[in-house]
Amino acid sequence: MMRFSGLKPPYEKVPPKWRPAYEAYIRTVEGQVAVVAAWVLLITVLFYQFTHELRLAHRPDLWLTELGFRTPVLLTALLTLLSHYTGKPMCQSRYLLRAMGVSVMVMILALFLIHYNGPSAATYQITNGIIISFFGVAILSVRGPKEWWLMFVLPLVIFVFAARMRGLTFTELLPYMFDPMVMMVIGIVLSAALRQLRAGEFIARQELRDQATTDLLTGLLNRRAMHQLLEQEHARAQRSGTTYSLVLGDLDHFKRVNDTYGHNVGDIVLQETARRVGSHMRAQDALCRWGGEEILMLLPETGPDGARHVAEKARLSLANEPMVAGGHDIHQTISLGVTSCRGSDDIESAIKRADDALYQAKKNGRNRTEVSTPSNSGHDPAPGQDASDATAC
Ligand code: GH3
Ligand code: MG
Ligand code: MG
Repeated sequence: MMRFSGLKPPYEKVPPKWRPAYEAYIRTVEGQVAVVAAWVLLITVLFYQFTHELRLAHRPDLWLTELGFRTPVLLTALLTLLSHYTGKPMCQSRYLLRAMGVSVMVMILALFLIHYNGPSAATYQITNGIIISFFGVAILSVRGPKEWWLMFVLPLVIFVFAARMRGLTFTELLPYMFDPMVMMVIGIVLSAALRQLRAGEFIARQELRDQATTDLLTGLLNRRAMHQLLEQEHARAQRSGTTYSLVLGDLDHFKRVNDTYGHNVGDIVLQETARRVGSHMRAQDALCRWGGEEILMLLPETGPDGARHVAEKARLSLANEPMVAGGHDIHQTISLGVTSCRGSDDIESAIKRADDALYQAKKNGRNRTEVSTPSNSGHDPAPGQDASDATAC
């Protein structure tokens, strides 16, 4: 069955790989909506409580009862603002929003019931409050339909029962509830549109971010994205004293592939290299296209032995099986240079060490891994001294 994609629930529109980020984004939106709603509720509810005598439904004897029904709304609003401004969240915004929605519904429907005294201007004036509240509560339901049960259906069912117990029939209620219900539908439509807009905007932003950080040919991270990750990991290593490793790889005699089979076949080899090498890495590792036929792996919390192991797996993933590209069997190999970093030196020196180790691997015959250990002094080696302190795997 054909389905109009615009009507898909927003969560389904978001590709699975972005869903954790989307969830985080929705939580931020909920946090922002909760703070705005808390301020609005705090101000308006206090305003109505203290301008009681200006309203048609003024009943001094009900001042305290009204305050009683308004207190849960005020408390949830205060809790939300405290959570936000002290920077110590006591409760997730999603639950605060739900608590605000339900307490507003209970407050406004209870106020209607306690003030109801037959068709009168005063009764109708209270319906204005219900209209405003239904609209506001629809906007609070950031996650949509699953929240309507709690925020609308449950309070309304209880309200109808309470009204019946007070002797009000459904037909008597209808004239007061007509405009609020219309407003509820408008609010729900608007909040659904907002959810669609948010999802669309999120997807567009992620696509742009992906384009800016991904290499088009291989789908790997590009050099710029890797630089950012390197800086983050280096700062983390400096803070926590952990070790990370770099593995720099360069395809062997790749120029020959291009010259023999053509550039298109060369491109396929690059793509297949990215696929094979990537399939041997952990989720927390990062792999980028560092240059034309060079790749760089960043292995957080990994020492030289672990990194050499990863590099060897990458090397063997190419060496053990020829690639089929453009109808040719291509025996492509890769040379790799490995180094580790504890955050004591700088990123550029670590990359330079990996490059030196790679140079050694090329010099020692290609299709091999060499490891360069950092000098304890952190200084560059003296001229003429081999920087890589390389050991063949
Ligand atoms: P070595 O073993 O010393 O690394 O030899 P090599 O031939 O791999 O080294 P060289 O740096 O001379 O050649 C790299 C080649 O990679 C040259 C360049 O045309 C090719 N190359 C770079 N980017 C791409 C690309 O995106 N697609 C294709 N098909 N080839 C590329
Ligand atoms: Mg090269
Ligand atoms: Mg090469």
